[in-house]
Amino acid sequence: MNLYLFDMDNTILDVNHVHFPAYERMYEEVFNVKEGLRPPKNGERTTHSIIRHTLKDSVPGEKIESQMEEAINHMAHLYYSRVSPLFVHANMPNVLDTLNSKGIVALFTGGARKITNIILKKTNLYDKFSHISTCDDAPTRAGIVKHAIERCSLGRKFDKIFVIGDAPEDMRAAKANSAIGVGVAMNVYTKEELLKAGADIAIDSWEDTESVMEQLK
Ligand SMILES: [Mg+2]
Repeated sequence: MNLYLFDMDNTILDVNHVHFPAYERMYEEVFNVKEGLRPPKNGERTTHSIIRHTLKDSVPGEKIESQMEEAINHMAHLYYSRVSPLFVHANMPNVLDTLNSKGIVALFTGGARKITNIILKKTNLYDKFSHISTCDDAPTRAGIVKHAIERCSLGRKFDKIFVIGDAPEDMRAAKANSAIGVGVAMNVYTKEELLKAGADIAIDSWEDTESVMEQLK
């Protein structure tokens, strides 16, 4: 049996246009500062690390930590009113249903659990994943992937583990866990960039279910 481990943002759906205003409003309404999203350049891009990195010069560290939960709840509220099934990449639900008939399908993300659950429920994708690992489970992308693999294994050995993501760090997390890296070139990175980052397979559309199944077998 195979394990299919999907990243969320830009891999199964496009939600960047909600991320930016959600971070901006949260910084202003929770911490009283005007900032953008500003992810760390070479660091881990998780909800927690983005907040810490962005506010490090304008808000004391203890205040960031003591208000972290409030900050995430505040953002979750904004996502709840703005996320729609229209954000899901074309034919993605069908691909997930087909993979579910062939193996275990799970999700990993650098996003916080509360926000991830809202996005997946509002896009009708929540029930398509047997397991979800987030930045609440481990601080690094490779660690989040490892956590998901362990939780899905339950003592069995998978024939193949596919780590499917849109960013070079997803491909590095695949390699760190001896998995097959599948680069999804749809929103940000090109096939060439993902192959250079270590992708074993690169795809640029979910629309042809048969061709996707041919590549993920
Ligand atoms: Mg992504």
